[in-house]
Amino acid sequence: MKLLVVASPLGPLGSGAAGGVELTLANAVAGLLQRGHGVTVLAAAGSCLPADAAAAALWTCPGAPQASVQHAPHDGPITIAPEGLLPRLWRRVLAEGPGAGFDAVLNLSADWLPFWLTPTAPLPIFHLVSMGSVHGALDAEIAAIASWDQRRLAFHSSSQAADFALPQPPVVVGNGFDLPAYAFCPQPEPLLGWVGRVAPEKGLEDAAAAAAQVGLPLAVWGLREDPAYAAAVEASVPAGTLQWRGFLPTAELQAQLGRCRALLNTPKWNEAYGNVVVEALACGVPVVAYRRGGPGELVQSGLTGELVPPDDVDALAAAVGRVERIERAACRRWVEQHASREVLAERLEAWLQAGLNRP
Ligand code: UDP
Repeated sequence: MKLLVVASPLGPLGSGAAGGVELTLANAVAGLLQRGHGVTVLAAAGSCLPADAAAAALWTCPGAPQASVQHAPHDGPITIAPEGLLPRLWRRVLAEGPGAGFDAVLNLSADWLPFWLTPTAPLPIFHLVSMGSVHGALDAEIAAIASWDQRRLAFHSSSQAADFALPQPPVVVGNGFDLPAYAFCPQPEPLLGWVGRVAPEKGLEDAAAAAAQVGLPLAVWGLREDPAYAAAVEASVPAGTLQWRGFLPTAELQAQLGRCRALLNTPKWNEAYGNVVVEALACGVPVVAYRRGGPGELVQSGLTGELVPPDDVDALAAAVGRVERIERAACRRWVEQHASREVLAERLEAWLQAGLNRP
């Protein structure tokens, strides 16, 4: 297939602004290229493709980043800046896509506009939905596409898909990772880890409180999206509990993350998947997570970590105490079997081919 993959309008690829969607794009593109498909990526000006996706063509558009819909009031209006990145990206898809001979467009952005224009677009647009329900108008468009042709939609987890009104069982593709890029670390240090955008929906405060309870430092990797929230979390625990490590490229992130005794994953929202859960497991780091959303499907309690009742900090701290029973090699094995880049590319290909009526 000849595919046009449209990146998030939240910022350039490589900046971290789009969170896990950036890594999803890199792995999807590299995996589809490996399977012999032609891929063009359309993204914000200033984007760079990772080395193993560099064989893809890169189209870029200038424009102000779109504000994330997840931080808008759930039932408020959708706001799109005139000549912002979002409308520019999709104008280019509509204007140049048909003439360039793409078989399909793969949208990775969780914005209202591409969903809204799908049924009338002059080329087939498919959506890998990256979030659970965050906005009423977006939910309505996803439901409208589902009742028109649900084959245009895929999800990362069943819990995520359950947020939407879907007439058919969902296509669930999980996610995929470049496993050779994650080194297995057999021997941890007395350190806990937390990875994610530092924003309220990610629940860092609960992980910080659990770390303080067990008396271990918590290393935090990720973009400080909400500095006031970061400061409030820091003030809520004894000095020295949190080690801010910043937003690191994958190569450095995995080298540091691998040394953790456990990753704490404490989202307050219905996390669509939980890239960081799988990245930790790939390094051999067990994950202690809330039984909620994607992480609740990814972590195999007792085998690759522990699942505890959502928002229960005492249970989180108690589970950290049990984590030494988990065999670190079993964590890595689970990822190899279920979440490699190759597995993702096969699932994406099957989904797109089915939606294009190509058995
Ligand atoms: N990440 C990273 N470096 C860091 C911290 C995070 O590259 O220092 C990436 C991480 O690999 C993951 C993404 O940020 O792919 C966070 O994705 P996730 O799906 O957990 O959450 P999202 O931010 O999309 O809600």
